[in-house]
Amino acid sequence: MGDAYDLVVIGGGSGGVRAARVSAQLGARVALVEGARMGGTCVNVGCVPKKLLSYGARFGEALDDMRGYGWSTTGRRFDWSALIAAKDREIERLNGVYRGLLDRAGVTVVEGWARVTGPETVSVALAGGGERELRGERLLVAVGGKPWRPSADEVPGIEQTWVSDDLFALPELPPRVLIVGAGYIGCEFATIFRGLGVQVTLAHRSDLPLRGFDEEVRRFLAQQMAASGIECITGCMPTYIDRDHNGLRVRWSDGGTSHADGILMATGRIPNTAGLGLEDVGVALGPEGSVPVDERFCTTVPSIFAVGDVIDRVQLTPVALAEATAFAHQQFADDRALSYENVPSAVFTSPQLGTVGLCEAKARAKYGDIDVYASTFRSLVHTLTGRDRKSMLKLLVDRASDRLVGVHIVDPDAAEIAQGFAAAMQAGITKRQLDATIGIHPTVAEELVTMRTPRTDSAVP
Ligand code: FAD
Ligand code: NAP
Repeated sequence: MGDAYDLVVIGGGSGGVRAARVSAQLGARVALVEGARMGGTCVNVGCVPKKLLSYGARFGEALDDMRGYGWSTTGRRFDWSALIAAKDREIERLNGVYRGLLDRAGVTVVEGWARVTGPETVSVALAGGGERELRGERLLVAVGGKPWRPSADEVPGIEQTWVSDDLFALPELPPRVLIVGAGYIGCEFATIFRGLGVQVTLAHRSDLPLRGFDEEVRRFLAQQMAASGIECITGCMPTYIDRDHNGLRVRWSDGGTSHADGILMATGRIPNTAGLGLEDVGVALGPEGSVPVDERFCTTVPSIFAVGDVIDRVQLTPVALAEATAFAHQQFADDRALSYENVPSAVFTSPQLGTVGLCEAKARAKYGDIDVYASTFRSLVHTLTGRDRKSMLKLLVDRASDRLVGVHIVDPDAAEIAQGFAAAMQAGITKRQLDATIGIHPTVAEELVTMRTPRTDSAVP
């Protein structure tokens, strides 16, 4: 019959580890199965190593900027393998921290790949060989997602390209990188590589990067990326990839070609449910194998639940953590609901994009009458660096209630600024309250509390 638990969690990423730990702390008997490294995407091939690489790139930019402040930077040299080795040491430490959290909470950790074999049973192909059966009154699917790229039938030669997982272990930094796809990952890595001195081309099928964000902000960020030396190709897709004397060669749908030393396909992610056995036990799957759930994170099988990227709502670590915490409380303590209102997010480009609430088009559609406050300016730091870099701030206010319904910031510190605004918006801040807030001078963020005149034209066609 196998070992019996109140909860068996499949996946030791952000959602799985949080759900297992909180459930165990609330008194449940919990087992967690992880097939790869503890911590999942965020810790191993996502947020954390990405942010470390982005810090690395930011130091590269800072070395250029320092000259305007009297510093000499002769003899500068960048060692990619040193950065990767330092990053690897930190990630290994974090793998241990996550494992320690589970051990201390009394969670049984099973190393291997799980397969759901019944509404309450899981079979694990153990990392050390052999099989182990686990029985859980509840099963929680927290298997996350994986990078997706077109098949070799669609784009011959595509197997020569990278997906984001590959970037964190590249043996060397290539001189020229071509990135296909301009979502979060495409844009972030475009500016990371650029900051590290790589020649970067960012290609995407639409006319602007970062679909879903405020259109004016997307345009502004595209200009900032171009000003930093990133070549942008819009409105086309790769149709064929091969190699000639000049490196990897991409043929585009418009007939053009490009060359690079490495190609990143940043064309999105799909849920990790292939071969997991969910459909065989009656769990209905959504598009691309996602797992639709109700407000209690329950699938179409009453004993099987899911949280995190696999449910394909909002693919962000803090959201996976919040879903997991809500799930654990709903099952083993009080009935806690989760709100997806005002989820803040940041794109760690250079400059960063931080956003909370609605874009202008959605705010107009939802509220009708809105006031738009927008400002574009060179921040104080760049008055001496000479860098062609500007910041952009944009506030959207519902005229009827005076509530702030959208904040959009493009600035090197946008993510840090946006977090405070997320708290203020969650508390229902009005424009009048914002106007009564005293600024901190001289900062970029003070502009957000001193915007007095709404503009009269609309940036949305
Ligand atoms: P995951 O973290 O993916 O964890 C799933 C785990 O399940 C994995 O460890 C996997 O090995 C395991 N697993 C899968 N199948 C099985 C099985 N059958 N048996 C056992 N184990 C299994 N989000 C942010 O908020 N901020 C960021 O800056 C950010 N940057 C990102 C950068 C990149 C390059 C990427 C790819 C993602 C980034 N994200 C970021 C998104 C974030 O990483 C995810 O939203 C988050 O990791 C989702 O957590 P999860 O628990 O749902 O899944
Ligand atoms: P993404 O943001 O959805 O972007 C995918 C990109 O690929 C888009 O430019 C999209 O173009 C393009 N694309 C999709 N299918 C394509 C196809 N068949 N052919 C050509 N282009 C195609 O995906 P992502 O960058 O992989 O990131 C995945 C998720 O991880 C994000 O949505 C986010 O939730 C999370 N993430 C978060 C952070 C962060 O918080 N900082 C960082 C990284 C990842 P269109 O726009 O035209 O569709």
